[in-house]
Amino acid sequence: MKGKKFFIATEKEIEDGKASDVYFSRSHDLLGQEQVKVVVEITSSTSEEWINFTGLQEVMELLKGKDIEMWAIPEGSIISPRDSLGRNIPFIVIRGEYSKIMELETAILGFLCQSSGISTESSKVFMASYPAPFISFGIRRMHPAISPMIDRAAYIGGASGVSGILGAEVIGIEPSGTMPHSLALTMGEDKAWSYIATHFKKGTRTLLIDTFGDEKFKAIEAAEKFPDIDYIRLDTPSSRRGNMAQIIREIRWELDIRGHSNIGIMISGGLKKDQLKELREAGAKVFGVGTSISSARVIDFGMDIVELNGKPITKRGKLSGMKNVYACKTCDFCTIGLFDSKPYCTEHGEMVPLLQKFMEKGQLLRLHEKVSRLRDRSVSALVERLDKIKQ
Ligand SMILES: [Zn+2]
Repeated sequence: MKGKKFFIATEKEIEDGKASDVYFSRSHDLLGQEQVKVVVEITSSTSEEWINFTGLQEVMELLKGKDIEMWAIPEGSIISPRDSLGRNIPFIVIRGEYSKIMELETAILGFLCQSSGISTESSKVFMASYPAPFISFGIRRMHPAISPMIDRAAYIGGASGVSGILGAEVIGIEPSGTMPHSLALTMGEDKAWSYIATHFKKGTRTLLIDTFGDEKFKAIEAAEKFPDIDYIRLDTPSSRRGNMAQIIREIRWELDIRGHSNIGIMISGGLKKDQLKELREAGAKVFGVGTSISSARVIDFGMDIVELNGKPITKRGKLSGMKNVYACKTCDFCTIGLFDSKPYCTEHGEMVPLLQKFMEKGQLLRLHEKVSRLRDRSVSALVERLDKIKQ
């Protein structure tokens, strides 16, 4: 780390296996030139009922060019980490010379664990706030070096926008932002409001109204002065939050009776998923959700050898053999099975394998999917889940 300003690994250091646990490089040296052909499998021991699987693109970029084959579940899949019989499913299967991958295990798992943790939490927020949209506001609580990854995962999970400039660039959208309290402090609230109301695009004119005054009276003032704005935003400090839902109902009423039903209410500030339903029902139209998504608990993934030189073998606690995961197209039945097996659903017949081939001899077999497509994949699965819960 000598000569570096920030405590971050470079892309090259990650590729060279330097951002890895030392026991892998020691084992690498011990194995030397020995040819050990393995199949490794990545499974998750999380107790979550379902996760949003992300982080695969970085894994593919890391392994590109190495003489290996790789199969994986596509990113943005909302999926149970266990099959219908409670057995861990493989999310990624890699076949090749063990020396090519062993030193990268730490980095591979790190990519998947943190990204999937964030995308899974974001998907839970999506379900809690639906149909109200939410924006990812949380990169300020995490190391700036990973802000693009955080926003990408939050977006795939279901966020409608992200506040980070680099994250938005990775996704291919415009970053979302309103105004900071500091703008009201430095310019004066009136001037700051006026600037946003006249210079911002339709759809993005959001006035932060709680820098100096009471939420209700400032909301009325903002709406009367600038009736064409899209949202007023409350970022009420925790010391002032008696009953947020009640404050929202009050503002909604006062705006509506004055003819400002067009102005929505945006809420941010330390929001957690459990609060969103109540606030939405009270009248909140859009949320800014920060730390609870960006600092989400990681999803535990582990990587294990399941086949050595063509023979099934693995450690205690794991299932040996090269496996795929198969799903019935009609019902929820899902089962692991040996890689080229053809399991059947007793009711509906043939099942489809979920692992797709992404890499052959180090060559990517398909282009990286657009981030918006990954988001579409997860969001449609989440909406389907919500519909099932309603029924
Ligand atoms: Zn079935």
